[in-house]
Amino acid sequence: MIKYDFTGKNVIVTGGSMGLGASICEEFAAAKANVVIADINIDEANKKKEELSKYGTKIITSKLDVSNYEEFVSLIEKVKNELGSIDILVNNAGICKSAPLTDMDVNECNAMVNINLNGTIYGCKAVLPVMKEQNYGKIVNISSMAAKLGNANSAVYATTKAGILELTACLAREYAPFNINVNCVLPGIIRTPLWENMLDSYTNGDPAGKDAMFQQITKDIPLGRPQEPKDIANAVLFLCTEEASNITAQNLGVDGGQSY
Ligand code: NAP
Repeated sequence: MIKYDFTGKNVIVTGGSMGLGASICEEFAAAKANVVIADINIDEANKKKEELSKYGTKIITSKLDVSNYEEFVSLIEKVKNELGSIDILVNNAGICKSAPLTDMDVNECNAMVNINLNGTIYGCKAVLPVMKEQNYGKIVNISSMAAKLGNANSAVYATTKAGILELTACLAREYAPFNINVNCVLPGIIRTPLWENMLDSYTNGDPAGKDAMFQQITKDIPLGRPQEPKDIANAVLFLCTEEASNITAQNLGVDGGQSY
């Protein structure tokens, strides 16, 4: 097991209450970082904060809708004032709806663009001035394997996630002179609340149907299993270590070999 040590580092994770974000928060706290759980669901964020108190670092919760730029700017200001620096931002919050484009409500399209893509742009735009001033920072954007697959029924979601790849590469080069690393992690398939909701919608919530469908969807993964949230968290933490300090503008797939 890799032993990470983020003592004294201050980390913000968006969508940190549940799913992958919650696991990323937990692994950072376990590695001695101070963690800001920034999520639209503040009740779940506060529950997560209690769970993480056992690690003994500062855990802060903040209600944030990533699709609201002003809220993001206020969060950054608040964290800077409270903790003194912002070393790491993980732009993780995201939503997923899957349907043929012609069947998708335009409001659902807009929500995915606003949360997944604009939310990531806003996070980077809000935090970069602080990181520039520090001459130090790590940004990890959570994209998706879907960004590379060109799958049917995934046009809008996959487009938002593909946009994150280009955003990451452009910003990595733009802010490299300020000792800021910007990278992307592309998760494969993890049975988080996001996937539970999708399985519910495909099967009308039938538990056996959901299990069967998940098995079917994950049966061809080359490494033989779907990912666990911790698989994704491990990749995120690695990219934020000093050992990874010469890695920037990269897309790290964590999908058991489904994409390359
Ligand atoms: P999840 O289980 O749905 O958790 C996402 C968290 O983000 C929830 O706490 C959610 O709160 C919060 N959130 C939603 N909208 C938000 C907003 N506007 N502002 C702030 N927080 C918001 O999702 P997940 O599976 O962990 O996914 C995390 C990221 O990984 C997403 O970007 C997703 O696209 C990406 N991803 C996931 C998978 C997968 O298989 N799970 C695969 C590839 C990529 P509410 O629940 O209250 O909405």
